[in-house]
Amino acid sequence: MKHELIKLKYAYNALEPFMDAKTLEIHHGKHHQTYVDKLNAALANSPELQDKKLDELLMNLNNIPENIRNAVKNHGGGVFNHNFFWEIMTPNLEEKEFKGNIVKAIEKNFGSFDKFKEEFSNAALNRFGSGWAWLVLNKGKLEIYSTANQDSPISEGKIHLLTIDVWEHSYYLKFMNRRADYIKNFFNLINWKKVNELYEKGIK
Ligand code: MN
Repeated sequence: MKHELIKLKYAYNALEPFMDAKTLEIHHGKHHQTYVDKLNAALANSPELQDKKLDELLMNLNNIPENIRNAVKNHGGGVFNHNFFWEIMTPNLEEKEFKGNIVKAIEKNFGSFDKFKEEFSNAALNRFGSGWAWLVLNKGKLEIYSTANQDSPISEGKIHLLTIDVWEHSYYLKFMNRRADYIKNFFNLINWKKVNELYEKGIK
């Protein structure tokens, strides 16, 4: 079965003014679509891998034949990371409410929400070149870090709770070179309900 581009649960203009419609349309419709197409192309001659779920492929990269391993890591990671990125943002005010056990966990681990925000923002800001910043559960403990290119925490056995795409294509149209402004705006879009659900599931 071929991998497909997932549909967004909101309209391209639903995240305005924090993320502009044009950027989201190109990011989802062009960039994300290209990862899907290139993943399918990479798997075209490996029917035994085509029915495997994407997370299964990324969690077991060493089992992928060497000649397509990098393509699966890059394009499969691209599909997986973007799927999650769309899911972790929302236009819905109720879903944006910062509540649940994740609140205490963040305060306990980072000292305060502001400290958390600072550390996450710095991880996003300081990722050199293209990549992603993440909040993950690493062996049950909250951790902030960043990955290069389309590398995904699930390939390292970590559980993803929150992410921001810091490839230039995510912000250049609206924010030009001002990655810091893009990150600041992203904080208005976080689906904390989803983050909390993933946290609760992840610590079980
Ligand atoms: Mn992207």
